[in-house]
Amino acid sequence: MHSELVLLKKMRLKALTITERGCNILAPMSRTLPLTIDPWLLYRRNETVEGDLSLCSMPHLLASQNRKDGVAWAKIAVLQREDGQVVITGEATVDVNLTCQRCLQPLDELLVAHFELVLVKYERQLSSVSDSDDAIVCADTLELAPLIEQELILALPMIAKHDNCQAAYTNEVSETADTQQPFANLKDLLK
Ligand SMILES: [Zn+2]
Repeated sequence: MHSELVLLKKMRLKALTITERGCNILAPMSRTLPLTIDPWLLYRRNETVEGDLSLCSMPHLLASQNRKDGVAWAKIAVLQREDGQVVITGEATVDVNLTCQRCLQPLDELLVAHFELVLVKYERQLSSVSDSDDAIVCADTLELAPLIEQELILALPMIAKHDNCQAAYTNEVSETADTQQPFANLKDLLK
């Protein structure tokens, strides 16, 4: 009887540990980024949204990766710039897995994108946007995934390469090229 009690205690203790662990996992340190925002509402309320975003919601970015899933993180605010323009400003990060173009081995990199886009309600307002600014037309609802995806793609390196790539560039004539003699049989033909 006594041993059963001990066992029961142990089990209870185990169950408690599992629950605690479960709570830790479930505790939302990071939350999911909303799929859409009303940037004008965000602006009026002076609010910021931030959270995780699945790479699966960014198919074009995912296509450039050696992976099938992953999670990006982004933070977005809407505020008025000194020149009076209302801008969507933000930051996005994601771990990308590319291919080094020198050694053709996998290359893991933390991609970071900082962006600022002038926000206008109607297309006709685009004429008031400076050429040096990127702009976005949005009357009310803005889908976040395409925006974040575009900014992360723009932050991708033009050519992915390890910082200290160990692949050596060889400029030697390969052995096979040495032994190949395209005209070797010519003498025989002339006989
Ligand atoms: Zn490399």
